[in-house]
Amino acid sequence: MNVQRIYTSPYDANAYIINGKVLIDTGISPDILIRELEKYINITDLELIILTHCHIDHTGAAAGIAVKSGAKVAIHKEDALSLKDDVKSVASLFGRPAPAIEPDIIYIGGESVPINNENLEVIHTPGHTPGGICLYEPGSKSLFSGDTVFPNGSLGRTDFLGGSPERMAQSIQKLTQLDVRTLYPGHGEVTSNRVNEQILLSFKMSRTML
Ligand SMILES: [Zn+2]
Ligand SMILES: [Zn+2]
Repeated sequence: MNVQRIYTSPYDANAYIINGKVLIDTGISPDILIRELEKYINITDLELIILTHCHIDHTGAAAGIAVKSGAKVAIHKEDALSLKDDVKSVASLFGRPAPAIEPDIIYIGGESVPINNENLEVIHTPGHTPGGICLYEPGSKSLFSGDTVFPNGSLGRTDFLGGSPERMAQSIQKLTQLDVRTLYPGHGEVTSNRVNEQILLSFKMSRTML
């Protein structure tokens, strides 16, 4: 699997280009993201934008990129309406209105999204938000973890509206069942260093917060 990380600022989520045609999360600013995307791909080659959850630091650029590329936008059912909610999207914390995004594809978890000869498995991981998802590619053992787990045993906040420490612990427990070689988090650096142990540490941390 071919992955390019786009990182623009500490306040912005990582965006990842997969095999030149799928984008996982978008960051907040369409102009910046489109400029960065065009360093790697022809923007019209983009087919799908998968949003790991409804927060604006992951979704703000999605509508602009979708218009320019013609790509479809996908998100979990439980976060779909929150995309356009000023509070649930945390847009109000960024001092701006929620972006006007109409998702084209709604996941419920358990889907397999084909990209060339590889598949991204959609795993419903509520806790940070009700409709948070992680994406797992079993061939390369890659996990795109959104704001559910971060490197070194960190995990996403559960104190936003719709967050739940209990659901977070259950979700991270699900992730401990996977064999992960490389973790691509929603924020911070990509890591391939004993990732299963890092995720187990996140699970233990999540249990201490119950
Ligand atoms: Zn985030
Ligand atoms: Zn978030």
